[in-house]
Amino acid sequence: MSHTSCTLCDRIAATWRGELPFLIHQFPNSLLFVGDHQFHRGYCVLVYKEHVREMHELPEVIQREVFAELMTATKAIANAFNPWKMNHACYGNQVPHIHWHIFPRYESEPDHLDQPFLHSAEFSKHATTAAMAKAVAERVRENL
Ligand SMILES: [Zn+2]
Repeated sequence: MSHTSCTLCDRIAATWRGELPFLIHQFPNSLLFVGDHQFHRGYCVLVYKEHVREMHELPEVIQREVFAELMTATKAIANAFNPWKMNHACYGNQVPHIHWHIFPRYESEPDHLDQPFLHSAEFSKHATTAAMAKAVAERVRENL
């Protein structure tokens, strides 16, 4: 099931057409992408394959599988980038399609004790290029 006005459904469709270099890995229930910015080095997003708004509305067995996929992705990112801390965020207020932001955090970043969207106004200055996406994807994939 897809949704015509959903940016994540669009991203999944473009990935299947081979138009996006941002895909890292395909899990049974989700896709791991390099994030749109690298303000946090190694920032990735895990996207549920279908257009579903709420984690709690998934069957329990699928909830557990998605969480296991999230943990596998998180371990790989942590091993690849050796951050100070890993942060997760799952909101879906703006894009109502289940996705998890996976943020490696570093002691060197400003306000590293605060939540990861604090400096979101600066994210666009660190937009992920195709070359950056390829490098991050390879590094994470080596650790999966
Ligand atoms: Zn969607």
